[in-house]
Amino acid sequence: MTIEEVKARGYNLDIKNPHTVADDYGDPEELLTRLDEAEKEADSLRDQLKAILRDALVGSPDVELIDAFMRTRETGEGTVLEVAVVEWHGPHEPGLRWEEYQSWIGTPNDGEVKTAQLRALADPEFFMQCGRCGERCNVGNMHDNTICQGCAERYLGVVH
Ligand SMILES: [Zn+2]
Repeated sequence: MTIEEVKARGYNLDIKNPHTVADDYGDPEELLTRLDEAEKEADSLRDQLKAILRDALVGSPDVELIDAFMRTRETGEGTVLEVAVVEWHGPHEPGLRWEEYQSWIGTPNDGEVKTAQLRALADPEFFMQCGRCGERCNVGNMHDNTICQGCAERYLGVVH
């Protein structure tokens, strides 16, 4: 409302707000249509966000770790995420010891699997970050708790 309008009404400010809730929202039919549209927009935003997250992960070293050291397996009752620890049967004979990390009844959705994978990546029982190169490695590829085998060979002169 402009000051002219207030003047025209004799400075009576006790006027019903023209933008009441009922005026703004209109009839229920239209409300439902708008709700539908809002939901479609939210779906599309969710899809875009998923794509962005996927792109952010692709090409990151963590994706390689997930590919190399994690697998999901169907069991009788559901699905199991297994995570592997690199074991050395000889200096140049690595093997993988698979351990059950999480299980679901039925089939987990992508988000549930991704969440479990990220949790496993952060689990020092399976993966550790090298203090020298900063890369996350399988514990079996660590020289000790602080440095990876590659860095130990390169910088400490360790021969594996
Ligand atoms: Zn390193």
